[in-house]
Order: sequence, then structure tokens, then C-alpha cells
Amino acid sequence: MTFAATILTLYPEMFPGPLGVSLAGRALAEGKWTCDPVQIRDFATDRHRSVDDTPAGGGAGMVMRADILARAVDHALEARPDSPLLAMTPRGAPLTQARVRQLAAGPGVTILCGRFEGIDERLFEARPIEPVSIGDYILSGGEMGALVLLDACIRLLPGVMGAPDSGDEESFESGLLEYPHYTRPAEWEGRTIPEVLRSGDHARIEAWRNAMAETDTRLRRPDLWERHEGARAQSPSGARRQKKER
Ligand code: SAH
Repeated sequence: MTFAATILTLYPEMFPGPLGVSLAGRALAEGKWTCDPVQIRDFATDRHRSVDDTPAGGGAGMVMRADILARAVDHALEARPDSPLLAMTPRGAPLTQARVRQLAAGPGVTILCGRFEGIDERLFEARPIEPVSIGDYILSGGEMGALVLLDACIRLLPGVMGAPDSGDEESFESGLLEYPHYTRPAEWEGRTIPEVLRSGDHARIEAWRNAMAETDTRLRRPDLWERHEGARAQSPSGARRQKKER
């Protein structure tokens, strides 16, 4: 099945952009996904093809008009009725690996990219749009966010990544950061590779990796660690463990 990406944008020339090279580029050439950028201005109604207007209530910048965007969105919904419709906005739910997995398992995705101060809020009420954020910082437009989301999806498509299992142990897949990696040379600037990784003892290596994933998550991402521990305490095995500890 081909994963169909439709991107509604004022800058269609930004696509596939960096997704035209490396893994994603090869997958695109092989037809594992398609990239269909759509110019929002084509849905404008005036001579100047304008898509924005001044903010109601005053203030700086411009706001993208709901009526023009709705025409673009409706066109995309008609072309791809099964694809989830997402809009890039810092006001959206933060993108997670779990959501990326769901999207990658589906028929594709339609992504609306904002510019200026953002999108008239009425569009979100009137159309089935999932607002998505890629993090707590402000980009100049939704296009980079769309590229991030698509890259995360494309690498999960069947046959895109070399090894079928690579990815299963990755950061976030288990709710934790991944363990740290090392490779040759065995000694570099006086630093060696942890002894256990050279032991050939697979059980010890796995135990070490699990311990490192836990320690690093606890130290670097207390937010993730808290969620992980909360989930563990609630699971049947976690509950048993807690009882035993008491
Ligand atoms: N005034 C807005 C920011 C607008 S930035 C606010 O403060 O909420 C312009 C566009 O960039 C947005 O419409 C959105 O499409 C995109 N964008 C900016 N930051 C983003 C983020 N963290 N995640 C997803 N999209 C973002």
C-alpha cells in the first residue's frame, strides 16, 4: 500500500525537500509513499490571491482566513476521504511516537500548514481537523513541522528501513529513552567502551541496556519517567511488584 501525503501549503516548493534524499527519497522513488503539495492560494477568490487578513481584536501580523482554507481542506478531503486531516499549530497536541505509528499504519495523511500568526479558529470547529504540535517552540510556518511528521511516518513504512526490527528498541517505543550506543575504535581519546558491551554475554548486555535506559530517562526526562512509572504501577504486573515491595 502506498502512503499518500497531501500537504496544504503556501510553499509547495518546500516538498519533498529533505524527504527527497536518503531513506525517504529512495522510498519516494520506489512508490512506497507519494508527496502531493497543494498551493493554498489556488483556492483564493480575489485577483491578488490573498489568503490572510488582519486579526480580529487587533494586534500584529495576519491570520489565515477560514473560508479560503476550508475550500482547500474540502478539496483534499474529497480527494482523500480516508486520510486523517492534521493541522500544524503550537496549540495542538504534542506529536508522539504512538500517534506516528498509528498514522504510518494508515492510508496517509493530509497536513495543513499555517503561516503568519496562524489559522482562524473557526476552521477547527467546522472541519474534522486534528491540531498537532511538534514541540513547545515557535516555527515560522507549519511546513517544517509537516516534514518532521512525514519523516517520522515514512521510516516506519514497510520496507523503508533496512532491518525490519530496527526501530522496536528506539527511544519512546517503550516509554523510555533508548540506551546509549558505542562503536569502534575500542579506545578513543583515552575513553573505552563499557566492558559489558565487549563481553559477548547477551543477557548481561540486555540487562545493562535496560538499566541505562531507565537511568538516563530518570535523569534526562523526569516527565517521561514519571509517566512510565505511573503506567507500570497501574499494570497488573506492576501492581504485584508494588505489593511485594511493601
Ligand atoms: N501565533 C502563533 C504561532 C504562529 S507560527 C502562536 O503563538 O500560537 C506560524 C505557523 O507555524 C503556525 O500556524 C503553525 O502552522 C506553524 N507552527 C509554529 N510552531 C509550531 C509548532 N511548534 N508545531 C507545529 N506547527 C507550528
